[in-house]
Amino acid sequence: MLVVQKYGGTSVGGLERIENVAKRVAKSREEGSDLVIVVSAMSGETNKLIDYANYFSKNPSKREMDILLSSGERVTAALLAIALQEMGHSAVALTGRQAGIRTDKSHTYARIETINTDRLNSEISNGNIVIVAGFQGINEKGEVTTLGRGGSDLSAVALAGALKADACEIYSDVDGIYTTDPRIEPKAKKLDFISYEEMLELASLGAKVLQNRSVELAKKMGVKIVAKSSFSENDGTVIAESKGENMEEVLVSGIALDKNQARVSLRGVTDRPGIAAEIFSKLADKSINIDMIIQNASENGTTNLGFTVPQNEIESAKEVMESFDHDLESADYDESVAKVSIVGVGMKSHSGVAATAFSALAKNGINIEMISTSEIKVSMIIDEKFAELAVRVLHEVYELDK
Ligand code: ADP
Ligand code: ASP
Ligand code: MG
Repeated sequence: MLVVQKYGGTSVGGLERIENVAKRVAKSREEGSDLVIVVSAMSGETNKLIDYANYFSKNPSKREMDILLSSGERVTAALLAIALQEMGHSAVALTGRQAGIRTDKSHTYARIETINTDRLNSEISNGNIVIVAGFQGINEKGEVTTLGRGGSDLSAVALAGALKADACEIYSDVDGIYTTDPRIEPKAKKLDFISYEEMLELASLGAKVLQNRSVELAKKMGVKIVAKSSFSENDGTVIAESKGENMEEVLVSGIALDKNQARVSLRGVTDRPGIAAEIFSKLADKSINIDMIIQNASENGTTNLGFTVPQNEIESAKEVMESFDHDLESADYDESVAKVSIVGVGMKSHSGVAATAFSALAKNGINIEMISTSEIKVSMIIDEKFAELAVRVLHEVYELDK
């Protein structure tokens, strides 16, 4: 039996915690599994490295950032291997390159293209526990790349898929996927099972418990994930293809919160064909990720347009909007907004789900500034100061604590 286990930043967030992980890994080994272990950097380490770079530059070169950031995961991988060797186990630490992970060429947000499993397989057949530094690979030119924040989850899923592992276990400081972030709503309930589809929405809408791209890849490769805690023995949550049969029973399965949102409001935009295309293509040229968009009906030849971007892209968005000075009366920017979302496959076949959310927020005096919906989610932009309250209100109105 081949198991891929991934331990996140909190789980390896200090020497004693790495020792705790080493003991857990040793136990799995003694129970007879072949193991590939993916590790994150110690918690806070990646942010610290980013701060170091920002001391010298506001806009450090992405190539150098990848060399810098990939070091955090290497430290943990080496330390875990040393700890395991000291416990009498054969273990080998590998960088992303040594583990055969090939990516495309985009620095700091690379996609995994292929994994050459030769080295991994030979280390496994030589009886080693293989420890892989997560979040990294190399591109065709041999340059180091990283996979985007939270990217060790993606490394784990990709390795599990490529090695056809029997299990892919992702360990963090929570013992599974909850109906919402248990740090915000202590009444949140742990789910035994969640479909890829719903998990992908939750992760994309801000539940950082799993990186969204890792869920996308798991769905594509059919990798079943089990999310567990490295601090307990509790059963975790299985993330796999929808079971189908109870799809219609659960209306809403979870609430996600994303505070990393900023809103741009444009007033008095000249209402002519092509204006939206111009604005949004210029934003796209700068790789600014647009999320929600609203445009009001036009009056007297002008219209109002609003959209949201990630908070760290607001400065670039401002620069772009300055080039449209002649086409609008005013632009304002609000960084204190949050996006709260309800997710559930049951919404496909029920009406009135969104209305319930809107009235629950209204009853609590929370104004909704923007709305977007899809078949299985409703997202609302609200004032950031009501973010946690909104999560709790919605959690209650859909009886997720029951
Ligand atoms: P790691 O560092 O191990 O990758 P993360 O910090 O990325 O772990 O993810 C775990 C955190 O995700 C939890 O501490 C929890 O606060 C948060 N979280 C957000 N939404 C959820 C949810 N629906 N279920 C469980 N945890 C959640
Ligand atoms: N260390 C990286 C991050 O903090 C990757 C990861 O932890 O998964 O984003
Ligand atoms: Mg994570």
